[in-house]
Amino acid sequence: MSAPIIQNVTILGATGTIGLHTLDVIARHPDRFRAYALTANTNVDVLFEQCRKFEPVYAVMLDERAADSLKTKLQIAGLVTEVLFGMDALEFVSAHLDVHAVMAAIVGAAGLKPAIAAAESGKRILLANKETLVMSGSLFMQAVEKGGATLLPIDSEHNAIFQVMPQQKFATLKSGGIKKILITASGGPFRKATDDELSAVTVKQALNHPNWVMGPKITVDSATLMNKGLEVIEAHWLFNAAPEQIEVVVHPQSVIHSMVEYVDGSVLAQLGNPDMRTPIAYALGYPERIESGVSSLDLFKIARLDFEEPDTVRFPCLRLAFDALKKGGTAPAILNAANEIAVEAFLNGKIGFMGIPRIIESVLSDATISLASSLSTVIEADKLARKAAKEWMLTYSC
Ligand code: NAD
Ligand code: MG
Repeated sequence: MSAPIIQNVTILGATGTIGLHTLDVIARHPDRFRAYALTANTNVDVLFEQCRKFEPVYAVMLDERAADSLKTKLQIAGLVTEVLFGMDALEFVSAHLDVHAVMAAIVGAAGLKPAIAAAESGKRILLANKETLVMSGSLFMQAVEKGGATLLPIDSEHNAIFQVMPQQKFATLKSGGIKKILITASGGPFRKATDDELSAVTVKQALNHPNWVMGPKITVDSATLMNKGLEVIEAHWLFNAAPEQIEVVVHPQSVIHSMVEYVDGSVLAQLGNPDMRTPIAYALGYPERIESGVSSLDLFKIARLDFEEPDTVRFPCLRLAFDALKKGGTAPAILNAANEIAVEAFLNGKIGFMGIPRIIESVLSDATISLASSLSTVIEADKLARKAAKEWMLTYSC
């Protein structure tokens, strides 16, 4: 069967940063892509405006009341988009027969089930939701294989690695002639902060990332370096890389998005302005290259590229993520769940910045780690870790 001319795209998390960037790229190519289904948690106003502009077949809200309100607004505006609500509906638009590609851009563990639904039904999955791979890497990769899905990483680092690898996955990295993967990290806004300064970090400071514009959770993750830790685990599953084959390199300019070192000494890198429309356009158009709206890289203006080793003493989250990866089983899911609770508590002013690694470390060391043999095991581990993190906050001040 020849490829369809217009690709129907479901965007999970359409109202978020990645969702908005995806719609920006889609709008540049009306002859290639159609926003078939758009989803959001509770943001009725933004989803309504998107429905007005893109006229999707479906709009899905996680929240039922938000869905009712969206339905009313669409009816008044005379739009025929069908409104659905709930997790089942998110899975429905991810697995829908008419859908070719699914942008998985819900933040956190909430994105897991719809991403698995897309994998099982053989879609082209544009994976931004790294938490899916962190929680259930083995199960998700199995679902991709079994469902005959095509998995394309959106995270800029993994997209860069994908671009400089001759093929996405090898039986072992060595068999592909690859020595190691070098994941770059901006180092976040507190790269040079002292211990005292780190303890006193405010929410406003943490939300001010030097190079990237992102949703609040991933922005805090970038400031603690947990984002890099989650990305190490993500790289492990995507590229079949052992923990020792993954190195984190702090590169404050965020121009090199990651690198691959080959056994002959060659190091291949992908460069570009820090704008998520590049990886999104790459994955939407793959294997073709399409316009993204991103401006040319001005190397004369950048002038220099710096590199540093990450400091896992001041930023324990990176060490904790490597530990969880080495422990395996449900450990990464536990790490992720404890992190989500801790970041939410930090954003709500309930704990300090350095309380985030403290909570995660404690939850991880007390947890019983089991084999991540089924989705229900992973979801149960996630639930228990959330409970443990909340209890820890009630018992200790951080
Ligand atoms: P965001 O907070 O800006 O947007 C999140 C989206 O998910 C919103 O549309 C929201 O309505 C939806 N959502 C939130 N909770 C939900 C729930 N419980 N059920 C259903 N929908 C829900 O986040 P973002 O920055 O766009 O990031 C999205 C994902 O992409 C994250 O996993 C993040 O780690 C990853 N990512 C983002 C960037 C970036 O530059 N923003 C880069 C790489 C990876
Ligand atoms: Mg990234």
